[in-house]
Amino acid sequence: MKKKILISACLLGKNCRYNGGHSLLEELNGLDVDWIPVCPEESGGLGTPRPSAEMQGNAEGILNGKGKVVTNKGKNVTHEFIRGAEISLQLGLEVGVKTAILKSKSPSCGIGKIYDGSFTKTLKTGNGIFAYLCQENDINCISSDNINQIKKTLAKLK
Ligand code: SF4
Repeated sequence: MKKKILISACLLGKNCRYNGGHSLLEELNGLDVDWIPVCPEESGGLGTPRPSAEMQGNAEGILNGKGKVVTNKGKNVTHEFIRGAEISLQLGLEVGVKTAILKSKSPSCGIGKIYDGSFTKTLKTGNGIFAYLCQENDINCISSDNINQIKKTLAKLK
């Protein structure tokens, strides 16, 4: 049976990014994997295209009411981000995923580095809200920036 892998839908070429584009990761083409694509921001009810958003606070804090996610126009979209992350996590848990490949730097999907909330393209250490929830639920998350790690992990799963 093929391995089920949770994946940011934009990495498979879905035009769900805030700007209406995608982040296709061509190295994933042809891999023998049962992808479970999710886009937490669309699942949370934010349309595409949508204003860019950044986290002000870390994921754990935001989930506990100590921080927020705001758009570049200053609109608070914390509720939509949390809701979308929970819906997307549930989709993965329902089919028993153990591994996720997630788009780097996103306030939903980013692993290890995210933008710092100042809208100045400044990165800080941290995880997106969906990525954080995945890790809290023992899903091994790999950043789309780390193609070597992705290939090694998928090879071991076969
Ligand atoms: S990074 Fe995550 S939230 Fe953003 S477009 Fe891709 S799948 Fe959707």
